[in-house]
Amino acid sequence: MQRVHNFSAGPATLPLEVLQQARDELTDWNGSGMSVMEMSHRGRHFMAIAARAEQDLRDLLAIPPNYKVLFLQGGAHTQFAMIPLNLLRGRASADYLDTGDWSLKAIGEARRLGGVRVVASSAANRYTTIPPQAGWETDAQAAYFHYTPNETIRGVEFHQVPVLANAGIPLVADMSSNILSRPVDVSRFGLIYAGAQKNIGPAGLTLVIVREDLIGQARAGTPTMLDYATFADSDSMYNTPPTYTWYMAGLVFQWLKQQGGLAVMAGRNQRKSARLYAAIDDSDGFYRCPVAAACRSWMNVTFTLADASLEPVFLQQAEAAGLSGLKGHRLVGGMRASLYNAMPEAGVDALIDFMADFRHRHG
Ligand code: PMP
Repeated sequence: MQRVHNFSAGPATLPLEVLQQARDELTDWNGSGMSVMEMSHRGRHFMAIAARAEQDLRDLLAIPPNYKVLFLQGGAHTQFAMIPLNLLRGRASADYLDTGDWSLKAIGEARRLGGVRVVASSAANRYTTIPPQAGWETDAQAAYFHYTPNETIRGVEFHQVPVLANAGIPLVADMSSNILSRPVDVSRFGLIYAGAQKNIGPAGLTLVIVREDLIGQARAGTPTMLDYATFADSDSMYNTPPTYTWYMAGLVFQWLKQQGGLAVMAGRNQRKSARLYAAIDDSDGFYRCPVAAACRSWMNVTFTLADASLEPVFLQQAEAAGLSGLKGHRLVGGMRASLYNAMPEAGVDALIDFMADFRHRHG
């Protein structure tokens, strides 16, 4: 059996070493005589797995002690609701920056629960840029400021963390598609959240990293399962957590440490994406990336063909060449190559070679 290069946006490719370790441990974890899937979440084996995963994540991101790490379910979509429920804290509204489809989803859900002010939007530029900060109409009284550091669908990424005029306003970030892809200063944020299925592990787990003073102020009537305090007070074990995904995430964290940590991953991710963008830009217009150069994503590289009628042919031949998952999101079409941590440089090289060959044959 041959593994393909899997460019899917999520669920996404995992490090082969991690899959092999999971396979080796599948029926008997560490002499316990049982699979991780079969363990009580409150037993000593799983407690050890859970604690190690959290510690490794804390090490990787240098998470300060006054932040809780929560291992939740419900995906990033559930966070779109949990954030306003917990963080509005009686204030009139929160600020949201609109840089694409995921920002809009977060805005739509927050609107159901309280006041939302959209401080700026790049909709008029078809989400190919990030609105210049000089034009953001921020509110000095905002409950928090929400943004999407990497817009997975169109491939737009912030390469700097915004500095707000009012440093007291908690910065909230949907890092679903770029968490762990580079070092980040967690102390700049009030809350970071991410679905696991891109850069963390299999689907089914949602990570929340939240500053302790923001916990415990959920609005009256918030369901128990949507209150951060529920999970902060129970080591994320109020109810049965997604144990196997938590274990898999832990293996990925160990793998990241073995690779040398997030600075090493950042170097690799930047190199991988730069090579692919160069191949697109140097194709005499055969391939085209619509995203402005300054905010092109390291994680999700989007491109189109000048002759759109060739796109199905491109996708079909790529698939036949072992390059899978390159179809763009259904909202925007075109192509998208997701280059998360687990995508090796050789996978990107194989894609670039295929693109050059395809252009040769159809250009
Ligand atoms: N935010 C971003 C940036 C995403 O990429 C995604 C998933 N593609 C989501 C939110 C939604 O995640 P989930 O399916 O885990 O709810």
